[in-house]
Amino acid sequence: MSRVCRAEGGVNLAQGFPDFAAPAPMKAAASRAIEADINQYAVTWGAPRLREAIARRTAAYNGIPTDAETDVTVCCGATEAMIAALLATVDPGDEVIVFEPFYENYGPDCVLAGAAPRFVSLRAPDWSFDPAELAAAFGPRTRAIIVNTPHNPTGKVLSRAELELIAGLCVEHDVLAITDEIYEYILYDGREHVSLATLPGMAERTVTISGLSKTWSATGWRIGWCVAQPELTAPIRKVHDFLTVGAAAPLQEAAADALGFGDEYFARLAVDYTARRDALVSVLEEVGFEVFAPGGAYYAMVDIRRHTELDDVAFAMELVRGGGVATVPGSSFFADPRDGRHLIRFCFAKRSETLESAATILRERLG
Ligand code: PLP
Repeated sequence: MSRVCRAEGGVNLAQGFPDFAAPAPMKAAASRAIEADINQYAVTWGAPRLREAIARRTAAYNGIPTDAETDVTVCCGATEAMIAALLATVDPGDEVIVFEPFYENYGPDCVLAGAAPRFVSLRAPDWSFDPAELAAAFGPRTRAIIVNTPHNPTGKVLSRAELELIAGLCVEHDVLAITDEIYEYILYDGREHVSLATLPGMAERTVTISGLSKTWSATGWRIGWCVAQPELTAPIRKVHDFLTVGAAAPLQEAAADALGFGDEYFARLAVDYTARRDALVSVLEEVGFEVFAPGGAYYAMVDIRRHTELDDVAFAMELVRGGGVATVPGSSFFADPRDGRHLIRFCFAKRSETLESAATILRERLG
């Protein structure tokens, strides 16, 4: 959709990346690192300063005691962390439970690891799951469950009670959890981020993934990480070494500085995203969509049926055409495209000018 948007001269609310600058001190730190000739391979599993910064932040924010020497692997984004974790822990023939709708990579990641994804539905309007459906998905071949909170594409923030239910099933069935917590600081209306690894019985069976892309507005830097106890980290580091050797060395140094930003940085991030969410959600409601307002992350899913009988792909194409607004068709987040044919996703990680331009177009076309 980003490509189509460029061709159509549209406003891009499709792909999940900010159109504003990354933090200035982080950019300055990267420049300094390049000037200081940090140009060669870092330690494969991450520059020591960055691993220490990740360990401190993960202990302080997530409540997961983390040893920088043995528990942290720096990867080329959360994307690489996820596939490295799966390749390291899942065998061909295993099953991996994935909540649906899901971030597009998880299905192919499972397939690349030789595993079969087993989908469990998150249902609108609050995107909760049916505990019985989840319990039924755990079987003798289940090796892992992927848990993404705050969630792309729905903005769902799993509650402590929901995570406890997941944890109970993981312990009962001896299943690993691989969590994607990349939006962990982007939370609305006082919601709490709970890391699954902190729940009873989960520390030794959870790989916790996060990264620089969203919290530090730097999706192109390709810095992410996973945190897991040494027995899980050792095989992940091996896979990571063979996949990519390592993430960009000077950017790792800058990331170490960025992870040390004070509390005010993270508080500001949440305040700014709340303003962006409110601006977009109110326009989407005003033009008549049924909006599933997000509790976290930076996306809003809407039901398009009040506007059109077209499916999601046709409607998204019509909306972007001739300088329109680009969105992501809902079917891209479902194994069976029919399940998402009534949904499209808007990304609001955008400057207020971008959101205002999108609002003007949406009012003209749909209002
Ligand atoms: N995980 C989720 C849930 C995402 O939405 C995204 C990007 O949109 C990523 C991971 C990608 O993270 P990274 O840029 O660190 O690879």
